Amino acid sequence: MKKDVIIIGNGIAGVTLAVLLQRKGIPFVLLHRKVEKEAFALGETLPPTAMPLLNELQLLSVFEENAYRKTYGYHSMWGSSRVTDINFFHHNPYKNGLKINKQQTLQQLREIIKENMISYHKEFDIIQEAHGNTVVLAKNEGVKIVQGKILIDATGRNRAILQKLNVKSNVHDELVALSCHIPKIKHPKLTHEVYVESFKEGWGIVSALNEIENICTIFTHKGNEILSKLKDVSQWKIVLSETMYLKDFLQETNQAKFKGGNANSSVAAQIAGSNWLVLGDAAMSFDPLSSHGITNAIYTAAKASEAIVKKLNFADTEAFPEYDSTMKTIFQQYLQSKNNLYQQETRWKDATFWKQFFM
Ligand SMILES: Cc1cc2nc3c(=O)[nH]c(=O)nc-3n(C[C@H](O)[C@H](O)[C@H](O)COP(=O)(O)OP(=O)(O)OC[C@H]3O[C@@H](n4cnc5c(N)ncnc54)[C@H](O)[C@@H]3O)c2cc1C
Repeated sequence: MKKDVIIIGNGIAGVTLAVLLQRKGIPFVLLHRKVEKEAFALGETLPPTAMPLLNELQLLSVFEENAYRKTYGYHSMWGSSRVTDINFFHHNPYKNGLKINKQQTLQQLREIIKENMISYHKEFDIIQEAHGNTVVLAKNEGVKIVQGKILIDATGRNRAILQKLNVKSNVHDELVALSCHIPKIKHPKLTHEVYVESFKEGWGIVSALNEIENICTIFTHKGNEILSKLKDVSQWKIVLSETMYLKDFLQETNQAKFKGGNANSSVAAQIAGSNWLVLGDAAMSFDPLSSHGITNAIYTAAKASEAIVKKLNFADTEAFPEYDSTMKTIFQQYLQSKNNLYQQETRWKDATFWKQFFM
């Protein structure tokens, strides 16, 4: 099979790029690795600032139709023991964000591009040919051979293509996340259904996922002593016993579905090569405190689609280096604002989790 673009990775970044390329009439294939495990809903929130981008890309209706609900603000207790109320009422032009149902949104987007998706369930290999094309061997029981001019890494934090190309990552911290789904309760002191609170060894967020469940995620650093306790959800209440409101949400944890993983900030040392591009978390992964991961996945997909058109249709040799440098600049700005945000929490400057932000 010969296509102009081969996309590997089936999350928001890869699928958004596929939809945009299809609209532009650029031949592509999305190689989709089949995963047996049921997806765990993270209950990602999109801020109101993401809505104009979705609207411009004509994707807003897909995200809205499949969202759990609109969000109109959130509360946080960060830097002091006062609850801050962030209301989206003053945002323009959109006065709401979205609590997205990622799996359902992806399902609808994949339906649009299904003719150009190929599943495989084992490994893939890459062969870079001398004349600049790439061949991908996707392995099932047999091997599917796909040849393309441009290869896209949209494999999230796995960075599966970058690993094969031996491109390193710059990792800026060791944040890890542990999430669990718990029965929904409405806190009597909070109006919004998203609440963030910092504590001595990390921070946590609880938000309504749907009518019956809340999702609670605790963030700390790899190696922190609270991690061993957090691996047992029934211990979370003890770990969070000194929090003001977070602990109140953990009333029934016996049946809680649970998942852990990386949530660190990192950037690929190279985000574009002469015939490859990296998108979404694979390009740069953000701290979930920023609520910026999904926006980044969509934004990088949009910018990548423009760079691909320039390269294929206008032989523009600057398009890929420009993409690389734009993304690296964005990541530098993000790092600065992330550090400023963590430095606003000065109550536990000497605690293991917080002290590194003050070194
Ligand atoms: C706890 C937590 C909370 C978060 N909260 C928010 C939030 O509130 N708001 C927000 O905007 N963002 C949030 N994020 C971030 C957001 O989920 C990600 O930034 C976003 O989903 C990244 O999309 P992606 O398509 O780049 O990567 P992914 O969603 O990781 O998709 C990568 C795809 O590649 C596939 N893949 C991986 N390896 C291979 C391989 N070897 N071969 C083939 N395919 C492969 C995977 O199966 C997957 O389909 C949160 C993240 C975490 C961990």
